[in-house]
Amino acid sequence: MGQILEFCRLRCPECYTTFPAEIMRSTGSGGVLESDLCYRAGNIFPYPFFVVVCPGCRFTAYHQEFDFLCEFPHYSEYHPLQRALGAFLREQRRLYPGSEKYRLAVQSARKRGAGALEIAYLHLRGSWCAREEKNREAERYHQEEARRHFGAALGGLTGMEAAVVGYLVGEISRRLGEFDRALVAFASVEVESLPEWLRPGFLRVRERAACGDGAPEILRR
Ligand SMILES: [Zn+2]
Repeated sequence: MGQILEFCRLRCPECYTTFPAEIMRSTGSGGVLESDLCYRAGNIFPYPFFVVVCPGCRFTAYHQEFDFLCEFPHYSEYHPLQRALGAFLREQRRLYPGSEKYRLAVQSARKRGAGALEIAYLHLRGSWCAREEKNREAERYHQEEARRHFGAALGGLTGMEAAVVGYLVGEISRRLGEFDRALVAFASVEVESLPEWLRPGFLRVRERAACGDGAPEILRR
């Protein structure tokens, strides 16, 4: 499935504001997987477009949680409507870069009592967006919060899910330059419980953590 940036009108489930938004439904395919499981394919970095901020009340969530009203037709770029919508969307992108969208999504998720694992994955995606924005401070914030929530979720998980979350706690620690902590987390991961495609990458990043190397790694699949 290719990458398609959809231009549509959504309705907020909280305040019923209707507003234009740009969304994506798929990461695309044929790309590369980074060692913290950030998948990159195609020309568009997709993660910011999975989440929508309501301009009325700032409720923020994956776009599937909003009511989809219609897709906009493709107007010519000189059409006055297109110019107004384009200006609105540019302003939304400026106000809410991906890292900020995921921070707001965590706030909205907390209000409805979301669990630690869900919060952790929102922060993990937020850290990928911050990296794309070259915002090291936001990346660190999201990484630390992701690790804390993955850690809190870990006790209630078993099997493959526990192994993957343990892997992520270790890998986030390695990327934060906290190698002792990374090695403790990696030591708790049962290799046979990891999905097969993650096992060679796991052994490599564990090796790197032991050498005090926090550099990004691409997982070969
Ligand atoms: Zn709203």
